[in-house]
Amino acid sequence: MPTVSDYFGCLAFDDTTMRERLPKETYKSLRKTIDEYRTLDINVANIVANAMKDWAIEKGCTHYTHWFQPLTGVTAEKHDSFISPIEGGKVIMEFSGKELVRGEPDASSFPSGGLRATFEARGYTAWDPTSYAFIKDDTLCIPTAFCSYGGEALDKKTPLLRSMEAINIQSLRILKLFDPHTSVRCVRACVGPEQEYFLIPQEMYDARPDLIFTGRTLFGAKPPKCQELDDHYFGAIKPRVQAFMREVDTELWKLGVLAKTEHNEAAPAQHELAPIYSQANIATDHNQLTMEIMQKTAKKHGLVCLLHEKPFLGVTGSGKHNNWSIATNTGMNLLTPGETPYENAQFLLFLCAVIKAVDEYQDLLRISAATAGNDHRLGAHEAPPAVISIFLGDELSAVIDALETDTHYDPKEAAQLKLGVDVLPRLPKDNTDRNRTSPFAFTGNKFEFRMVGSSNSIADCNVVLNTAVAESLRQFADILEKAEDFRTELNHLIRDTIRKHKRIIFNGNGYDDAWIREATEERGLLNLRTTPDALPYFLAAKNVRLFQAHRIYTEKEMKSRYEIVLENYCKTIRIEAATMVDMVYKQILPAIGAYAKDVAETGAAKKALFDAFDVSYETETVKHLSTLTASIAKAVRELEEELPRLDSITDVTNLSFTIKDKIITKMSELRSYVDEAEHITASKYWPYPTYSELLFGVR
Ligand code: ADP
Ligand code: MG
Repeated sequence: MPTVSDYFGCLAFDDTTMRERLPKETYKSLRKTIDEYRTLDINVANIVANAMKDWAIEKGCTHYTHWFQPLTGVTAEKHDSFISPIEGGKVIMEFSGKELVRGEPDASSFPSGGLRATFEARGYTAWDPTSYAFIKDDTLCIPTAFCSYGGEALDKKTPLLRSMEAINIQSLRILKLFDPHTSVRCVRACVGPEQEYFLIPQEMYDARPDLIFTGRTLFGAKPPKCQELDDHYFGAIKPRVQAFMREVDTELWKLGVLAKTEHNEAAPAQHELAPIYSQANIATDHNQLTMEIMQKTAKKHGLVCLLHEKPFLGVTGSGKHNNWSIATNTGMNLLTPGETPYENAQFLLFLCAVIKAVDEYQDLLRISAATAGNDHRLGAHEAPPAVISIFLGDELSAVIDALETDTHYDPKEAAQLKLGVDVLPRLPKDNTDRNRTSPFAFTGNKFEFRMVGSSNSIADCNVVLNTAVAESLRQFADILEKAEDFRTELNHLIRDTIRKHKRIIFNGNGYDDAWIREATEERGLLNLRTTPDALPYFLAAKNVRLFQAHRIYTEKEMKSRYEIVLENYCKTIRIEAATMVDMVYKQILPAIGAYAKDVAETGAAKKALFDAFDVSYETETVKHLSTLTASIAKAVRELEEELPRLDSITDVTNLSFTIKDKIITKMSELRSYVDEAEHITASKYWPYPTYSELLFGVR
């Protein structure tokens, strides 16, 4: 039997394969491009393309595709075959450097937020050599960026790569200040995204139009048992789920994805997959692939993998924990508390850069996780609230307090601390957090951003993190490079940053109403509860300045993204509302009617048999069902009437607010009547699998 190390990465054109298949000089040149984000010479590209093609054909490929991430949030591909005609009606298999480096998909239907007029609809894709090519469905997939002819980014990868460069440049400036002879050549953001999801039986999914059209249940009465007993979390994995997970791991390993941990999550039918962390850009590509492979593999096992943030009302939703750190090419994690006072000072400066960044760009972080689906998830059931704050843990907070007030830090004995010889103290080595309510937690040597929704691309939040931290570092470097005495200026800078930004640090319970009040009223933190509330902040002058200064987005690109996010929000909810209307008329009202009729007939039959029989149960039930039917009919009609009125609202911001205030309110009203009716209707009449069946259906 082949072992994992035999087949790991066998479908990726990874470093080992490149080294084996490329001439030495070509390999060296490509490696430089990858490590230092340099542009690639076309002659080198030609040799690489040919080697890639030969490798892919040996593995059974006939096609290649430029694989990219348009602003729909999913990945896109357009397949071309390698064939090229020759004399005698024959073909040869060809793939040139030009085809590797640049593609022109006819991708005019992807959202561009007005960046492309339809007459110049074609964008182009450009090879991203920093993420390895791979084989999927007998097709060579080349990770690419997607841009308009004017050079504007139309995807999620382009800004992410730009932000990787921003944090690289600014971090290097800081490292040179601490050590002018540093051997560090580049600094990269690293990410390990933990991916949550639900698995339900395929046949139950097929029976629910809401799951098919919207990915979540729009109706569903609360089941008698759910997650009250916490008996699913980390529980034994059922054989069918186990088989699914094994196959997902195997497929991912073949692609070189470092799938590492799989376990059951808090809700019944909920699970998690975490990879070993890698560079943010690669982690993002791999997370997209992971979601795709999970969905495909589930189907093979007669299951459906739900990636929606809140498939079931009242049950824990799914998120993605974006574990983020910054590391040098020499293997140093800049967020690891050091062994020496000197390393600690450097660590504290990077820590302060993050604290400052998160405080100043809370709005952008919140926006990076803002979608219609995630709005249902935040603020309950293990998901963080919509208020951004940082959890540092008691010990690091004590260090921060001591630095701020210039007092002596007195570490707890258990942590075995030795105070350093310099002003800055030695820091605790271990600092883990189990406070699940914090949206942004320091967990020893990385920060964990927990707000991202399970179906979102992690590109957006990492663009914000990389850029905002790069901006803090830029400001720090500007000051420190001019300092007469580096140590004094450094201490001053750290103290000053803590004083200004400590309001963002909070170690308590994020669900507490008292915290939300304190956060908003006393600390002045933002509480952007929904996507329409959050999005307008995207275009605030400070945010436009930030992204422009680091060449991440032009103002035009920001406006286009703003439109796309809100359009997506509006469309999502309109589809949900229309699906509800359809389900109510076609199946729910008829079902309730049929049940009421049978109960009424039973009552009438009893009476006919013997007039003195007690038919109060039948009478009450029919009465209750009739009242509910009338309420449902009224609510569905009102919802239905609201929908076409939305067409007259042309401004997408206004539209999003109308949808949030009117449509969503009506939808929850309608749902509450239907759920009550489901609760009292006999099972055999109800047209859909219930929450109990969905959540406990995989055996
Ligand atoms: P948990 O949060 O469940 O305790 P871990 O902290 O071990 O689990 O890891 C969660 C994720 O964080 C994994 O994907 C892991 O690879 C990633 N991770 C660990 N160290 C780092 C780091 N320095 N930078 C970024 N991600 C990291
Ligand atoms: Mg974690």
